[in-house]
Amino acid sequence: MALKTIIIAPDPRLKKKSKPVVSVDAETRQLMDDMLETMYAAPGIGLAAPQVGVLKRVIVLDIDREEVKTGPLVMANPEIVEASDDDATYEEGCLSVPEHYSDVARPAKVTVRYLDRDGEKQEMTCDGLLSTCVQHEIDHLDGILFIDHISSLKRNMILRKLLKARKEAERDEEDGEKPKSGKSKEPASAM
Ligand SMILES: [Zn+2]
Repeated sequence: MALKTIIIAPDPRLKKKSKPVVSVDAETRQLMDDMLETMYAAPGIGLAAPQVGVLKRVIVLDIDREEVKTGPLVMANPEIVEASDDDATYEEGCLSVPEHYSDVARPAKVTVRYLDRDGEKQEMTCDGLLSTCVQHEIDHLDGILFIDHISSLKRNMILRKLLKARKEAERDEEDGEKPKSGKSKEPASAM
């Protein structure tokens, strides 16, 4: 297994549509394993392949909360086949949008169809945080970030701050300064 670098917005690679996996082969399984390792190290509760620069329809999740413990989940070609009419709102975070959080409303309950690590067809009905996380990750496969669901005013403010932070980090690097106290740890709701 290998740790991958997580791409931070704004980045054109995060806006691209990912391609379906043709078959869940050894390469796909390697990608799934690397993504899980990268997600746990971040730490986060979900990660989509485009966040590590791979434009394939693969997502991984692991939610460990009092109300829901999924264990490691890997999904190739995930697809929402049913969604509830009622919405649920969660404060979402994203490993590609570090240190910013916002309430996003999405269908409270969804059924997702996908291929598992063995390439077997599976269907799972998700609610609560799992439903939010699955929809957040599938959005990534279509080049959509959670900040695309909030007001453009707030989105642009977040993107400006991310750009500023990136420039400051680059300047510190040129000056030979060590990055400030390492990276800050994300709360476990980043995905
Ligand atoms: Zn995300």
